Amino acid sequence: MKAKTLETLFHETLKDIYYAERKVLRALPKMARGAQSAELKSAFEQHKDETQGHVERLQQVFDLIGKPARGKTCPAIDGILEEGEEALEDFADSPALDASLVAAAQAVEHYEIARYGTLCRWAKTLGLTEAAKLLDATLQEEGATDKALTKIAEGSVNKAALMAA
Ligand code: FE
Ligand code: FE
Repeated sequence: MKAKTLETLFHETLKDIYYAERKVLRALPKMARGAQSAELKSAFEQHKDETQGHVERLQQVFDLIGKPARGKTCPAIDGILEEGEEALEDFADSPALDASLVAAAQAVEHYEIARYGTLCRWAKTLGLTEAAKLLDATLQEEGATDKALTKIAEGSVNKAALMAA
């Protein structure tokens, strides 16, 4: 059996996040449609466009390591997104809907931040400077999205959730 090295681990994790990003890309329009606040709606729409860019950056990284862009089922993101869908159903038409959508979206962002942080460091260790730059660019956008969601939650959404229906 071939020894599994950091190179293998990097490639496997890249497939994991590639699967995740493409799934998130399909989930974001649903979340945007579900959101009640215009601010949250537009945050989801903006992040959908960014996510398209994340998918493209990952394709570039696959290219840089000479591998085809292919995903591998990631049960973690499947579970996180399932919870998001539950939030949409369970809190439909309730004042806490947006708060629950923000919570679901932040779980996605934190998952992505964990993955990109790891991948970026591994890329540096492997001497993949160009790949590290691409991964870091996405990492920054995920972090900014997470902060923007916190701002929206604190600005309006959480207070709205306090009101009785
Ligand atoms: Fe992303
Ligand atoms: Fe994201």
